[in-house]
Amino acid sequence: MRRAVCPGSFDPIHNGHLEVIARAANLFDEVIVAVSTNYAKKYRFGLEERIEMARRTLSAISGIIVEPMGDGLLAEYCRQRGASAIVKGLRSSGDFDYELPMAIMNRQLTGVETVFLPAEAHYVHLSSTLVKEVHDLGGDVSEFVPRSVMARLAERSAGDAGR
Ligand code: ADP
Repeated sequence: MRRAVCPGSFDPIHNGHLEVIARAANLFDEVIVAVSTNYAKKYRFGLEERIEMARRTLSAISGIIVEPMGDGLLAEYCRQRGASAIVKGLRSSGDFDYELPMAIMNRQLTGVETVFLPAEAHYVHLSSTLVKEVHDLGGDVSEFVPRSVMARLAERSAGDAGR
């Protein structure tokens, strides 16, 4: 059984995430979407909501598990879950510069490999931050997020933070 982990905060999940996770599910027998919490970060949506949005939008794809990652080391989490790889989407050379040292360190820590998938051209500019900013300023982001996430964005204004 080849298992991979797609980690992220998913605040909220968007179509760029979905696309990379779906491709990871084609490459591995099982993909764990590990929803992280960084206590230094302020989230729009609480952990349970971020998990719920991800579960709902990924429910049609088989072989995907969505669960909290906790706030420990990613490499250790992968070891405990029996995952041989971390899958990350790459949007730019900036993503690569940021991700490469972590990928090397994670491999040195527990032997876990990192697989980089190039972002789909249509979603290469997408981040959860940009989705929230555009939505808060009245822009239409329906092309970039699942319908259930659109509804959540409409309910939650910029001032509301979750954990
Ligand atoms: P960010 O890294 O922007 O704070 P997340 O933590 O939610 O957002 O993202 C989790 C992972 O999803 C990222 O590390 C990256 O691998 C991938 N990802 C994010 N946005 C995209 C995108 N537009 N296309 C492909 N992959 C993406």
